[in-house]
Amino acid sequence: MEYFLTEQQKTLKSLARRIAEERILPVRAELDEREEFPWAIIKDLADADMFRVFIPEEYEGLGGGCLDLCLVVEELSRVCSGVAVSYAAAALGSFSLVEYGTEEQKRKYLPDIASGKRLAAFALTEPTAGSDASAIKTTADPVKGGYVLNGTKQFITNGGEAEIYTVIALTHKEKGIRGASAFIVEKDTPGFSFGRKEKKMGIRASSTRELIFRNCLIPGENMMGKEGMGFIMTMKLLDRSRPGVGAQAVGLAQGALEATVDYARKRVQFGHAIISLPVVQDMLADMATQVEAARLLVYAAARTIDSGAKNFTEEAAMAKVFAADTAMKVTTDAVQIFGGAGYMRDYPIEKMMRDAKITQIYEGSNQVLRSAIAFELRKRKGRRE
Ligand SMILES: Cc1cc2nc3c(=O)[nH]c(=O)nc-3n(C[C@H](O)[C@H](O)[C@H](O)COP(=O)(O)OP(=O)(O)OC[C@H]3O[C@@H](n4cnc5c(N)ncnc54)[C@H](O)[C@@H]3O)c2cc1C
Repeated sequence: MEYFLTEQQKTLKSLARRIAEERILPVRAELDEREEFPWAIIKDLADADMFRVFIPEEYEGLGGGCLDLCLVVEELSRVCSGVAVSYAAAALGSFSLVEYGTEEQKRKYLPDIASGKRLAAFALTEPTAGSDASAIKTTADPVKGGYVLNGTKQFITNGGEAEIYTVIALTHKEKGIRGASAFIVEKDTPGFSFGRKEKKMGIRASSTRELIFRNCLIPGENMMGKEGMGFIMTMKLLDRSRPGVGAQAVGLAQGALEATVDYARKRVQFGHAIISLPVVQDMLADMATQVEAARLLVYAAARTIDSGAKNFTEEAAMAKVFAADTAMKVTTDAVQIFGGAGYMRDYPIEKMMRDAKITQIYEGSNQVLRSAIAFELRKRKGRRE
């Protein structure tokens, strides 16, 4: 398949692949087993300038677009989705600064994120506010000189490991979600601590943790964007990041497909390699076709974003939903073709199937995103060109 990548994008993709194969592959099973945050690999990614990809050039980044980010995430996820999401969450954690930060905020934080010196994270979800993000309860009460944060964020990727957090909180709780604003909170701020570290089904190299704010005073200059615009900003940022989750799913599915073809060539039953069985060939052909279709949709959504389009809710949601469903289907079929061996931890396939599930759940569950796609269809008048 020709993806019409630029020479620069091809170089970026092959560099990410090299890091994934040389540095992640040898340790992925151990990271998964020990549920260990991949700090050594984060350092390798930083040394290879991978964190610069999603930061503008003015702030010591490479000024890459959504497609560039997707290419890196895809290649990392082809080998280990847990590592890939730790990287991708840093990008999501920086998007609010890039899009809505003041010049001072950008100068203060983005160069450190670009160099990989400090990781970023994004905190919206709370125990009572998942799909319904409008139900958040964390408050940021205005006081002299700043805001006082109180509340708990749940399931935050890079929680505890990141140093720079985008936190969505209610500045005027009586206004509900129209009173939400976005803040930068640094790790060592008094009143900010970390709670439960989740034990997960998959992406176990990544950290998923509670953030607890108890009378946490943050300076007024840490607000991003306009007061009361936090929810709208969040919806726009998630539109921008969803192709990245799609890329994570595509990488996973690609890794599973390659491992399965390899296994089916070697595994002999009834005197022949199982790849010669028509039923296995049919499954492999469908898996390969689905992976290509998902990749093309993710790349197309990313290119739409990079074109400067204003509204890409539908494209981003379609790419995420389709790629996530593909990853789940392809990894499940991969386990089936591996047979009993696929169920064992000796092979990477059971991990890939466990890792795939989350792509259907986070950054908008696939059900919620299907509703969003249907909403866009309903409000549109006439055919879309
Ligand atoms: C490993 C992991 C990492 C995460 N990382 C982050 C992070 O970095 N930052 C962050 O802010 N959040 C993060 N999240 C939170 C994640 O985005 C939410 O889990 C997700 O949005 C779903 O919310 P929920 O888990 O509360 O499920 P619920 O909202 O309780 O949903 C339960 C079920 O109901 C369905 N449902 C709910 N509402 C609707 C509806 N309107 N229409 C159709 N179906 C519906 C859902 O699809 C789902 O099947 C993470 C979660 C996990 C598990």
